[in-house]
Amino acid sequence: MNLISAETLTRQLLDLGVQPGSVLLVHTSFSKVKPVEGGPAGLIAALRAALGPNGTLVMPSMSYDDDHPFDKSRSHCAEMGVVADTFWRLPGVLRSDNNHAFAALGPHAERILAPHPIDFPHGLDSPVGRVYELDGQVLLLGVGHGANTTIHLAESMAGVRYRRDKYLTILKDGKPTRLEYREIDHCCRNFILAEGWLEERGLQRRGTVGNAEARLVRSRDVVTVVVERLKQNETTFLHPKGFDEECDDAWRSLEGSGR
Ligand SMILES: [Zn+2]
Repeated sequence: MNLISAETLTRQLLDLGVQPGSVLLVHTSFSKVKPVEGGPAGLIAALRAALGPNGTLVMPSMSYDDDHPFDKSRSHCAEMGVVADTFWRLPGVLRSDNNHAFAALGPHAERILAPHPIDFPHGLDSPVGRVYELDGQVLLLGVGHGANTTIHLAESMAGVRYRRDKYLTILKDGKPTRLEYREIDHCCRNFILAEGWLEERGLQRRGTVGNAEARLVRSRDVVTVVVERLKQNETTFLHPKGFDEECDDAWRSLEGSGR
């Protein structure tokens, strides 16, 4: 197969509706996009070219290593894919300083990556929350809404009460220390419901970038449609009890809250 050039990718991104000068939060699976000239760095170059010098590119950069303290200059971001794990290592790219890190490059990078609470990863006071406040776009490249972290922001803004027990390891007085907390979470597979909610209102643009199916939405539109559904039914995203462990945890937390 012929390698896809950065120029071609940039044109496809602009055709899809990526706004030069905007804030763009990208979730991607490189295996769906490739083969790309220059590999993951080639795709990142194409995203930067589409955004131009006034645009800000943002990617998840968290580490799921819960047993070791996060080190923003070293901790891998393996689970978010090779593009995300390439991005934070590039010159000039900033990375926030906790296990739920994001990385960003561009004029709004510092604001988006300002310190954020470690035990409340996706609220308004977090990188995804700041992308929302800046009216950013969310690009899903070769992944569906199951990977759309902004839906967690919508859950927190809707005030859902379900939680799961989590822990992390942080440095306290220089010593690795276990931090337990409760996070809005479940298996997240039903996040794909957002696809239909956005489509029926014409709020999602779809196209092809490289070999991947691409979806582009405004962060604010994601929050609007998801909050509306969660206000009608708080447990919209939870599988029926007994379906999977993660959703069962979330159900149990609701029983504990007097429901
Ligand atoms: Zn589930």
